[in-house]
Amino acid sequence: MIKTEKVVHLRSGRGRRVRVVREHYLRERVPCFSALCQADCNNDGPVLPGDLTHYVVPDAEVVVNFLEILELRELQGIVFTQTAVQALQSRGRRCYNRLRSLVKDPRHDCVLFANEFQEFCFCPREEGERQERWQTRSVYSAAVWYYNHLAGVMNVVMITEDQEAVAQYSSLNSGVFVVTVQDYLQNFWPDLVQAQDLYRSISQVLQDKEGEDTQREFSEHLPPEVLESGIKSGRFLQGSLNVSKHRASDQAFVVNQVLSSKNTDLSGGVLVYGFKNRNRAVHGDSVVLELLPRSQWRGRLTALAEGPGTETGEDGEGRPVPTGRVVGILQRNWRDYVVTFPSRDGSQSQTRNSQRILAIPWDRRIPKIRISTQQAETLQDHRVVVRIDSWEITSLYPNGHSVRVLGRAGELETEVQTILIENGIHVPPFSDAQLREMPPNSPEKPWSVDPAQAGRRRDLRDQLVFSIDPPGCQDVDDTLSVRRLAGGKLELGVHIADVTHFVREGSLTDLEARTRATTYYLADRRYDMLPAVLSADLCSLLGGMDRYAMSVLWELDAGSLAVSSVWFGRTLVRSSYQLHYELAQALLDGEEAPVPELAQLGPEERDAKLAELLEALEMLTQVARHLRAQRDQGGALELEGVEVRAQLDQDRNITALVPRQPLEVHETVAECMIYANHWVARRIQEAFPSTALLRRHPPPCQELFTQLVDLAQARGFPMNTRTNKDLADSLERAADPQDPLVNRLLRMMATQAMSQAQYFCTGSQPQDQYYHYGLALDRYTHFTSPIRRYADVVVHRLLTAALELEGGAAPAPARALGGNKEMEETAQHINNKNRAAQRAQNLSTGLFQCLFFKDRDPQTDPRCLADAIIYAVRDNGVLVFVPEYGVKGPVYLRNREGQVVSAGPDGGCEWLSGSVRRHPDQISTCSNGGSCTFRLLDHVTVCISVLSTSCHPDTLKLELVSNRPHHSGAAPRPAPAPGRNQLVQEVVRLAQEAQQAQNQAQQRPRLSREEREFQQSKTPNLYSLLEEVRELALLDQDSLLRAAAATA
Ligand SMILES: [Zn+2]
Repeated sequence: MIKTEKVVHLRSGRGRRVRVVREHYLRERVPCFSALCQADCNNDGPVLPGDLTHYVVPDAEVVVNFLEILELRELQGIVFTQTAVQALQSRGRRCYNRLRSLVKDPRHDCVLFANEFQEFCFCPREEGERQERWQTRSVYSAAVWYYNHLAGVMNVVMITEDQEAVAQYSSLNSGVFVVTVQDYLQNFWPDLVQAQDLYRSISQVLQDKEGEDTQREFSEHLPPEVLESGIKSGRFLQGSLNVSKHRASDQAFVVNQVLSSKNTDLSGGVLVYGFKNRNRAVHGDSVVLELLPRSQWRGRLTALAEGPGTETGEDGEGRPVPTGRVVGILQRNWRDYVVTFPSRDGSQSQTRNSQRILAIPWDRRIPKIRISTQQAETLQDHRVVVRIDSWEITSLYPNGHSVRVLGRAGELETEVQTILIENGIHVPPFSDAQLREMPPNSPEKPWSVDPAQAGRRRDLRDQLVFSIDPPGCQDVDDTLSVRRLAGGKLELGVHIADVTHFVREGSLTDLEARTRATTYYLADRRYDMLPAVLSADLCSLLGGMDRYAMSVLWELDAGSLAVSSVWFGRTLVRSSYQLHYELAQALLDGEEAPVPELAQLGPEERDAKLAELLEALEMLTQVARHLRAQRDQGGALELEGVEVRAQLDQDRNITALVPRQPLEVHETVAECMIYANHWVARRIQEAFPSTALLRRHPPPCQELFTQLVDLAQARGFPMNTRTNKDLADSLERAADPQDPLVNRLLRMMATQAMSQAQYFCTGSQPQDQYYHYGLALDRYTHFTSPIRRYADVVVHRLLTAALELEGGAAPAPARALGGNKEMEETAQHINNKNRAAQRAQNLSTGLFQCLFFKDRDPQTDPRCLADAIIYAVRDNGVLVFVPEYGVKGPVYLRNREGQVVSAGPDGGCEWLSGSVRRHPDQISTCSNGGSCTFRLLDHVTVCISVLSTSCHPDTLKLELVSNRPHHSGAAPRPAPAPGRNQLVQEVVRLAQEAQQAQNQAQQRPRLSREEREFQQSKTPNLYSLLEEVRELALLDQDSLLRAAAATA
């Protein structure tokens, strides 16, 4: 080892530059991390594959400025030199962390090379040499070393933006190609348009940086050490900036849980009033605040703004609340933003050949972003993904650059992609490397059971196992069995797809599934968590196929149904019947129903098999009734039961009134799954008291039930919300036989008041917090849907580890389980992704609703008229629910001109000048036309139209047409109304027609964009997709169903 000296320039916290001389040790052996290594390096960890066409070594400046391009997964074989990494590090932790996660992610082919420790690559900086020059020289030296180290068997390309270096080094004949980034992308990646676009937009920003304005618009942020001591001393507060959705330009709050628990004054958060006081902080940033003197405190704006985004400023303020201003930013939480390039109005500034456009983010909480572009013309009215680069003190707006064009605003595909990006949902096509991990399975050579595996599993193929799912279900997660044992016992079995057999911990498929955390269901499509070969085939417990399963088998006393023993383990099953709910229920009800699996048999054999199946179904029903009764005693919320039924409900009305009595078999299956989840939760919690992944549902906050209690009171139903049992009983009794919607609405309100169920790691919560309120169980987890939920995959691994531990195996590999902290991180990650999935689901439903109503004339189209029920009263109007379309929203009774809604003798409404008067459970308008009262739970007729803004999502507008219920046509309640399924179908059809017309015009192959871009499984018909969505209860915009899906 050789000792030398290295001069480093560091920047102190106050911005001073410090020159430090460090001892620097050089070694002969520094790992190269290449599979082609000829020198026996100690390459511990991932290595660059040997089958690439070249390795690329980016210069420090390239890494600093163009890291985003290097992050593209298509680019392979990147060698990051220590020199470049240190240059990046000096730019702050955020950049550095990005690089670290890039290098750690096995889906990217890139490695770190410690060139400055390598004896033969290290170049000491020369007297008077510019830092940039020295860095380029060091990186070049590293590239040359690399080329020689691999004995020239791999091409090595160095990329730099330094033209002089290109000229100088290219003439040296060292074997290394030195080219500019632009040349590199054009010659090596001509088809990677995204990289070239990114290059253009980033270089534009770099060019424009010179020649910025100089006038200050904001005050300087305080240095980090001042912020830190200010927080310590209590002079400053820290928290996350939360911009108000409806008052984005002037209202933001900073909430800090630690402080608000100490100081009740701050429990509502600190108001940051106005744009200037935000001092360049963006929604979501972690900021430091200074409280303003009391005389400058402002009030919250309380009245609901009419329509989102209309900020009139005429509303009164509430009493003054603590108000502050941002003095520093601890961490930026910038993400990818979707913006719209507005139509040209001449007000945008223009320089030489580029234009600076103020692009408008889709999310109202984000400020306008200034983008320099040469494509301003073509991008008008398009949605574009952008990233913020900086927010200079001299600029009113942050500067950013464009990353990718999504398409014209208002088109279905553009809008769907917008929703995904805005929710951080990234669903690229499954990569080839990932698909290579899949077991071989082709029509010629189908996958088959491995005899060695079969020997290690309990073989249940001779037992009657069956599934009950919605019709057409492809990914069968779960199957059931029940049989009589000798000695008067019963055996109940739940058999779940053995996903973890195929998805190894840490494999690329596992990483991708973990990143996604769930299958995403939008109104018209879904994005799978696992590749189709697993989700629809090898893992799916299809009828008549040998499949691996993870099973729970209970031995029950035939009389009392008490559990005498439980067995968990890996099994081999062959499902005999793939039943659907209606068929199973018909069989149970003694109806003649053809079972497809028996169609080919002779009558005698058929009757025998049918009798066997029927007996099993009946036994199962008995057991489930017993289990349900047990949970009811504990106070399980009937609400859940209802929603589980609704979830699984099939070809009933998709829209309005879901029958109060759904099929019992839904509940039977659900109950068995709940039971399996509960027992697995117990098992893994006992084995891993501090590292098990469970699911808890905290009890609701009582104040949130006020709206529910008031609403029930309007029909004279008492509502006791003290315990889950009381609530369940009250809801059961609160049914109006004349108006079934009332009960549905009350359950909706109840669910809205509920907290969401969440995953957690057992070590992070005291045991009394494990309780699942909705299901009335002391411990619960998710085990039964590993094909579409990553939590279940983790739980399968935990269960496997627990069984190995029990079997006397050495403690399971620590990696499989991770520590307490790691498991809690996993839990939070999955919770976050589930919330994103729900938001995306709701936004896509909203999108379809708006697209459906967009081109309709509310004056003439009868579908724009609908029945609505009032569920809350506000100062200037009411909130209504439109069951036919699942829409909720405000109906204004007073407009900005001071006019009020007045109803004539026939119920028809018009605007007249007058006044409104609000009472707790009703609101009255008074005008020349007389007075008119609207009570809670009244039915009225509304007209639905679209409030369109090109830059933000459209919203629906509800206007009162009549104060009477709406009856369309002759029948008092038309059977399946033009519900949401038709709505989605129609919107998709129109979009496809438009696409088709466009394709014909451009003579392009007719592949849907989804197929081209995502290669995701596209379920053949929309109806079956909708059924799946509904099964997860994600389609319904009611938070009722949402929360139920989340809590089950
Ligand atoms: Zn080597």
